[in-house]
Amino acid sequence: MKNSITIIGSGFSSLSAACYMAKAGYQVTVLEKNATFGGRARQLIKNGFTFDIGPTWYWMPDVFEKFFADFGKKPSDYYTLEKLDPAYQVYFDINDSITIPGNYEEICELFEKEEEGSSKHLRKFIKSAQENYDIAVKDVVYRPGISPLELITPKTAVRVGQFFSTIRKEVRKKIKSKKLIQILEFPVLFLGAKPSNTPAFYNFMNYADFGLGTWHPKGGMYMVIEGMVKLARDLGVNLINNANVEEIKLNNQNKVSGITVNNEVMETELVLSGADYHHTETLLPQKSRQYSEKYWDSRVFAPSSLLFYVGFDKKLNNVEHSSIQILTYMQNQFMILQNGLKNHYSMQAFLA
Ligand SMILES: Cc1cc2nc3c(=O)[nH]c(=O)nc-3n(C[C@H](O)[C@H](O)[C@H](O)COP(=O)(O)OP(=O)(O)OC[C@H]3O[C@@H](n4cnc5c(N)ncnc54)[C@H](O)[C@@H]3O)c2cc1C
Repeated sequence: MKNSITIIGSGFSSLSAACYMAKAGYQVTVLEKNATFGGRARQLIKNGFTFDIGPTWYWMPDVFEKFFADFGKKPSDYYTLEKLDPAYQVYFDINDSITIPGNYEEICELFEKEEEGSSKHLRKFIKSAQENYDIAVKDVVYRPGISPLELITPKTAVRVGQFFSTIRKEVRKKIKSKKLIQILEFPVLFLGAKPSNTPAFYNFMNYADFGLGTWHPKGGMYMVIEGMVKLARDLGVNLINNANVEEIKLNNQNKVSGITVNNEVMETELVLSGADYHHTETLLPQKSRQYSEKYWDSRVFAPSSLLFYVGFDKKLNNVEHSSIQILTYMQNQFMILQNGLKNHYSMQAFLA
């Protein structure tokens, strides 16, 4: 008899954990409170329009390749990726924008045109970003996350200075053009962080942007979720939707004995949660929670956003990939970033 594990949620994290646990021989059940799978990356279909409700930027394609390769698969077994060229367009004003090419050499030329001498600094910055990417994304993120000491490796130790400087400081040291500064500072926003308090080490996000490029799964990001759901099912995972986990039950030894789902108790030996940490803790008895409400009140969360999903029944003029626009409020300026969701004329407006 296989050990049973219940996984809360069906976002990227839960689906990938489900696949690995199934491969390791567990009997896996995924419980998703929503009607559809994918969590923040799920899909909204309304009046003939299809929207990715959350993520639209497919960065770090190597991470997806590594994931599928662990199961003897490739992303192309599940979806078709295309590299966007131009990658995206940044609007500083209604008639003032910069189009970021999909090719690094062309990006360097663009920088040079905007500010003489800036391409030399950009190349140096991206070289260091690439080294940091190799350390962070290819190694450190795959460590188990049990102790902060995992972050201390011979390679990170020699970069300790980068943990005391910030992205903002590093970018502004040599680059003076306000627009180029904004372009280089925006990728860390994806970490929910401000450039002014993000360590310079995190410039690996800039390598993900300029070095690896912006990609688009044909049909939208939801194709990735569909691929992961298919892989999980093929590995024997039981995925259940409309299943709201209300409580994680513990026995006398403080070990999981079961969970309450839609008012019914289900037995399980292990629980793994892909839901938000704070929410997951509220499912546990008060005495077994790691953090108090006072602690959570003291935390500063990444900004949330108000999203509008707007469909157009005609092609929009003056947009490169005709579809997604994200309006984000950054350092007192509105930026509009557009990304491609070809075949759908839909718009996601993002007001922070
Ligand atoms: C607007 C927006 C834009 C983004 N853009 C990008 C982007 O362009 N590129 C990118 O890489 N990332 C982007 N992200 C981030 C990315 O979407 C998330 O990091 C990722 O989807 C999170 O996955 P997850 O599995 O950690 O969590 P989630 O997707 O939040 O999954 C948690 C799941 O748990 C379920 N759940 C919660 N509580 C319970 C319960 N009690 N019982 C049962 N189920 C429960 C939820 O319904 C959800 O399905 C964006 C996020 C947002 C919100």
